[in-house]
Order: sequence, then structure tokens, then C-alpha cells
Amino acid sequence: MAPRRKLAAGNWKMNGALADFAQIDALLAAHPDPGCDVLICPPATLISPMAQRTAGTPVQVGAQDCHQEEKGAHTGDIAAPMLAEAGARHVIVGHSERRADHGETDDIVRAKAQAALAAGMRVIVCVGETLEQREGGSTIDVVGGQLQGSVPDGIDGEQLVVAYEPVWAIGTGKVPTNEEIEEVHGFLRQALQKRFGDDTGAGIRLLYGGSVKPSNAAEIFAVPDVDGALVGGASLKADDFGGIIAAL
Ligand code: PGA
Repeated sequence: MAPRRKLAAGNWKMNGALADFAQIDALLAAHPDPGCDVLICPPATLISPMAQRTAGTPVQVGAQDCHQEEKGAHTGDIAAPMLAEAGARHVIVGHSERRADHGETDDIVRAKAQAALAAGMRVIVCVGETLEQREGGSTIDVVGGQLQGSVPDGIDGEQLVVAYEPVWAIGTGKVPTNEEIEEVHGFLRQALQKRFGDDTGAGIRLLYGGSVKPSNAAEIFAVPDVDGALVGGASLKADDFGGIIAAL
């Protein structure tokens, strides 16, 4: 198995404008050869201009969501082939904000992942427990159920990334302990190997997400089976995202 290439993925969520491309220019000026894969998932309206602006640079562009159907009467939605045409190479599916705000179930997330793969993009499938679930001791059950339900069958390990994002750590400044991250990532690795076979399962990248900052990145990246990060707030500023990239 080829070693898993580290990935720093930024999720701009509903933030950013054309003027913020200056942050990407600054990031590239500071890290012209980042030594890991770098991905930014801006709002859909920025995908095309960002893909044009970053063409030929190490920055790849992705989407934050896609619809599960190829086309049709779905006002306001965007189909995976449209995102691919706009220049997206990855799609985040099943982010906890989509699961909570838009009622996305594991079945919907899996269908979205399938649509993204069919359009030739990679998928980042997000899983993670709420604080209540962690305190109730059901983290592994919850994350295991989401993984089983949200990841399509028959995937190629290169095309899939799984992000563990505890809901209570997103945007809160709280992060799990290294032991807590290690427990979940170790479980995810085992579950993926059991389902897809040792080689495929070993090749799938596992990201940690939730309040990753330059100050805690190195410690988190030292945890076994952490292959990078899915970064929200800190991906918006070149200095912060650059500090995380430097720690990978
Ligand atoms: P955060 O968000 O880095 O702002 O906590 C992470 C995410 O939701 O992907």
C-alpha cells in the first residue's frame, strides 16, 4: 500500500467572497510546496472562480454538499456533475451542519456520496457524535452506524476520505483528548478494513475535524491514524490555515 498522503481540507462554510482569494494567494506565497494535499471547499458560487485562480497550484477546490440526483426539479440544489464542471474535485457529504439543518440521514448522505463518485469526484464523508451521545457512552455506536450507513459499497480507497468531527468540537474551541481521537480513528480504520478489506481500508484517509488551530494541530496530527484535518474557521485565514499545513 502506498503511504497515505496527508490532507489539509478547509471548509469555508457560508463564508468568504472573491476578495478572500487574497488569503489563498498569501497561503501559496508562504507555502508554495506544502508537502501535503491542500483542499479548500468554498461556497458553491466561488467554486468556479477559485478553481480558475488556483489552477496549476497545489490548492485543490471542492464543494460542501451536492444533490443526490444528476438533474431535475430541485430548486436551489446543485447536482454533482455541475460541481465537477465548475472545477470541484472533492465533495464533503454528511457534515453535521447538513445533517442537523437539512435533516440529512445516512441514506441521503450515502446517495450524495454515490452521486459525487459517479461524477468523478472524491468524497469526504463526515461522521461524529453529539455531546449528549459522548456523555451517554455511545460515541463508537453512533460513529459506527454513520460510517456503515453513509459510505457506499464498492468504493475505491483513493476516492474516499472519512472525517471524524465530534459535533461538540465544531466551532467551540473544545477538542477531544488525544486518547479520545485515537479511539475513534482506530475504530474507523478497523471498521473500514473489515468492510473493504485490509488494503483498501488501510489506504483510506481519516481526517479529524473540530476546532483545529495552528496551536493544537501538531498534537492532533501525532495521533495514530490521523491523516490530516477538516478545518472550518481556521481555514479562512492564510496564517491560520498555513500554520495547520506546516504542522502536517
Ligand atoms: P471548525 O469547524 O474548525 O470551525 O471547528 C470544523 C468543521 O465543521 O469542519
